[in-house]
Amino acid sequence: MRTVYVNGAYVPENEAKVSVFDRGFLFGDGIYEVASVLGGKLIDFPAHMARLHRSAGELGMRFTVSDDDLLAIHRELVSRNNVDEGVVYLQMTRGAIDREFTFDTEKLTPTLVLFTQSRALIDTEVAKNGMKIVSIPDLRWGRCDIKTVQLLYSSLGKMEAKARGADDAWLVRDGVVTEGTSNNAFIVTSEGAIITRPLSHSILPGITRAALMAYCAANGTTIEEREFTIEEARGAAEAFITSASVFVGPVISIDGVEISGGKPGPVTLGLRKTYLEESLKRAI
Ligand code: PMP
Repeated sequence: MRTVYVNGAYVPENEAKVSVFDRGFLFGDGIYEVASVLGGKLIDFPAHMARLHRSAGELGMRFTVSDDDLLAIHRELVSRNNVDEGVVYLQMTRGAIDREFTFDTEKLTPTLVLFTQSRALIDTEVAKNGMKIVSIPDLRWGRCDIKTVQLLYSSLGKMEAKARGADDAWLVRDGVVTEGTSNNAFIVTSEGAIITRPLSHSILPGITRAALMAYCAANGTTIEEREFTIEEARGAAEAFITSASVFVGPVISIDGVEISGGKPGPVTLGLRKTYLEESLKRAI
């Protein structure tokens, strides 16, 4: 049984409790982060905490825990649960108060919950064989840049992808691909250009996306930020996704159209290698 963290206490998972009045539960008024663990160490940790602060700021949520404490809690959970490879999930909500649409943030104490999941992240089926993508309309709200727990559309999108025999879905708004249900989307053109859409309120500023772009910039590989349509993606030489738990994940088909001969492409695999090497060097 796992040990989880709830509001200052480390408790067995079956004893962890959050109020029924928690605004995360009643209104989806919560934010989260997922940091991966490799060899017992946290990947891209400072960037995940920086984004957590940004999400809280955008929603006017109080931030009552220090970054040092957040790191200590992450490490304590990794250690208590013997996580060698896996993720640490963190959720912070505005707090618990009797149900009202309006609220006084200052009267609320944020709820903080963290738990771990041990699982293989490097040697996975997706890394080896790639993933099949289908496209669906992006019907999410207008602030997808904030990492809130309002994940219903993404969850249903993944379910639809599975029902259609695929692994995940890419979201399309105004004719262009915004992002995956839980990842950022990239294509590689037949000329070898690596492309991802620019940041805006329409997508989450992925930590893995930013880290990969920084590693590429440092080694002279250009990643171009421009919008692309799902038709361009279906005709791309390669396609891939980035996320904290998949890192760089090859895409081998989009809407049933084979990409890169139906197997992970060389550019994608090179970027995966670069990401893993560089982020392992910086793991804490
Ligand atoms: N977009 C969405 C919608 C996501 O949910 C995620 C993962 N949380 C990402 C992109 C990738 O972000 P990161 O690299 O920080 O995991």
